[in-house]
Amino acid sequence: MSNTERQTVLSESRDTRCPGRPALERIDTRASEVGQLPIHRALPSRTRRMVGAWCFLDHIGPIEHAAGHGLHVGPHPHIGLQTFTWMIEGEITHRDSLGYAQAIRPGQVNLMTAGDGIAHSEDSAPQEPGRLHAVQLWIALPGTQRRRAPAFQHYPELPVMSEDGFRVTVLAGSLLGRRAPAEVHSPLVGADLAAGGPARMDLPLAPDFEHAVLVLSGEARVEEERLSPDSLLYLGSGRRHLQLECRAASRLLLIGGEPFGEEILLWWNFVARRPEEIEQAGRDWNEGRHFGEVAGSPSARLTAPQVSGLNLHGARP
Ligand code: MN
Repeated sequence: MSNTERQTVLSESRDTRCPGRPALERIDTRASEVGQLPIHRALPSRTRRMVGAWCFLDHIGPIEHAAGHGLHVGPHPHIGLQTFTWMIEGEITHRDSLGYAQAIRPGQVNLMTAGDGIAHSEDSAPQEPGRLHAVQLWIALPGTQRRRAPAFQHYPELPVMSEDGFRVTVLAGSLLGRRAPAEVHSPLVGADLAAGGPARMDLPLAPDFEHAVLVLSGEARVEEERLSPDSLLYLGSGRRHLQLECRAASRLLLIGGEPFGEEILLWWNFVARRPEEIEQAGRDWNEGRHFGEVAGSPSARLTAPQVSGLNLHGARP
């Protein structure tokens, strides 16, 4: 995905720190648009920009689209992060400047490590109507890894287990003793929890992680808080268990990780530390340097928003 909002001010990560303490902080998702599709963005938000290393969370669909009106995000660059796509319904084809072209289908993960710089596109099949339901998350790379070589991995199969009426898929890190294959670079967790009907679970969590839950469909009670898809519930850290309850078929996304110990700068599709790096990446992309070409996308190449007009020196919204 690409951030198509035209921010005029650089956003920095300055989340309220509540080390070691549980919290219940409701974060309303915002309606936005990606490749002409309406989506809901949960992270970054005005009050919380990260949960562990997870620094971006778009919830796409569920939506029914006509032929030619699916997701179409033309070639665009990334630095300093990994894009993590979890497909629930539908199909998207990823193409990148390393030469990968990979369809992603329900139950699968695409993980693209931007590192020092990569470009990619994401497109629904052009001639078919269809349904689409997915999430795309970004994972900030820690300072020691953020300039690593770009890479792309497709994970067709993930650990899935049944637990107290939930079908649990471990997307990243470990949960309930099972480990996901995705290669990540900081301690974190991601899981999809799907209840086919009434279900209740006490889910064990790593107490040194902070966590958050987003309902992807239906409705849930999380620690007695009623939660629907319009808000992300930030849970803080220091929890050993999480009480989850669904009264009907519902689907939840859990994300968590060790609180990210570095301040990041997030602008457009870039994660960096210094404003100059962002200016450079924007210029390089717009002038056709550094990131390489993406072949085969039916969608137009995106342009980095005007970098020169930005206050890149510390002003915050
Ligand atoms: Mn992208």
